[in-house]
Amino acid sequence: MVKNPSKKTISFYTLGCRLNQSETTVIQRTFENDGYHVVDFNHPADVVVINTCTVTENGDAETRRLVSKVNRLNPSTRIALIGCQAQMQKEKLAHLPNVQWVVGNGVKMGLQAIVEATEPQAPPQVITPTIHRERFTMPAVGIDRFHTRANIKIQDGCDFFCSFCEIPYARGRARSRVFDDILLEANALAAAGHKELVITGINVGTYEDEGKNLLDVIEALEQIEGLKRIRISSIEPTTIPDRLIQKMAEGSKLCRYLHIPLQSGHNTILQEMKRKYTVEEFSRFVQYTNNTVKEICIGTDVIVGFPGETDEHFQQTVDLLKTLPIHYFHVFSYSKRTMAQSGHLPGAVDPAVIHQRSKTLRHLSQRKRDLFYQSLVGTTQEVLFEETKGGMAAGMTDNFVRALMPSNIDLHNHLKRVDLISCQGSTLLAETSDSLSHAHSR
Ligand code: SF4
Repeated sequence: MVKNPSKKTISFYTLGCRLNQSETTVIQRTFENDGYHVVDFNHPADVVVINTCTVTENGDAETRRLVSKVNRLNPSTRIALIGCQAQMQKEKLAHLPNVQWVVGNGVKMGLQAIVEATEPQAPPQVITPTIHRERFTMPAVGIDRFHTRANIKIQDGCDFFCSFCEIPYARGRARSRVFDDILLEANALAAAGHKELVITGINVGTYEDEGKNLLDVIEALEQIEGLKRIRISSIEPTTIPDRLIQKMAEGSKLCRYLHIPLQSGHNTILQEMKRKYTVEEFSRFVQYTNNTVKEICIGTDVIVGFPGETDEHFQQTVDLLKTLPIHYFHVFSYSKRTMAQSGHLPGAVDPAVIHQRSKTLRHLSQRKRDLFYQSLVGTTQEVLFEETKGGMAAGMTDNFVRALMPSNIDLHNHLKRVDLISCQGSTLLAETSDSLSHAHSR
């Protein structure tokens, strides 16, 4: 309900990672709680918030493109640019037309109060204070009406300083959310009907709050009634305790899913990247996990074109990814970032070569994903359905495959055991003979 009908309209756009999405949802709730009316990004609004990303040059360019689009839709919109690019490139962003606020990561969760305190004719407000290492809480519950799975932020920042990455500057040093504050939000999300929570953060394996670690968080979430699945969005390979793998193997609420960034399949490049493992250690871990957790889906991130990456280095990455039980990869073209140490390394790779390497890995990823999907034909899996359209219900298994099943009724937010009967591209076709009487809708 709109508390104050004279309040303004606002729209949101999120660039970048799942953590940004999770934060936007919470920020949106703080505005809604104050009576703002949230409209679609393609509709004119009084205030537009863009939660920016600076992981690559493309992310930077996307902000400028979005600002132009907003100005074409409504030249009197006041624009707030918040997040990573705002933290790193405040001068550039403050000069873009109609940008009223540039708000960094340390204070962006308080955006609503900043917007309210700004006079209509005020000059651009640039607020990007230094981010301190402090435990934190979140200002609202991120109930997400548009997605079946809800994100829950438990951690921010990073101390690892990988040489290609600006995150320790854009988001500050590693810090963790107050343990009880996580549980408060998780309980509220479960009470609102969310059956799956996705744990998000920058380096979630380093979570630490008054002696509690990531496993403590997962075990506490498992106790919450109504919550059926807990998924970890992405985790650094060196921070995964063995107990976590055992939990997946035991069939707990923890999804059989791991996204662990590899970045390169060659030790020389890994060393230059300042990653904390060797190819051999990573491989052993992936093999062990795949042997321990039946039907687990393992995904990874790879960077192509890191300075000094030769054809031989790249080929070793391809060969490794071909042989390891990794089921898909996100491929990133190397992008020089101002604060990242790798900016000083010699051996820049030709953009045409980067493009070709990226294409090679994307094709390989698609093939491996298809093979994984095919390997699940004939198995029974539990699917959390997300939508029903044109007589077909679509959802995800806990091991992160998309399943489609004929249905004449809306299965949104129903959890059902289904038989996977065939594979069509990147979708598995499912059927069930169960009655729906046990399913609960949100
Ligand atoms: S682990 Fe490395 S890549 Fe990941 S956020 Fe930290 S510094 Fe960046």
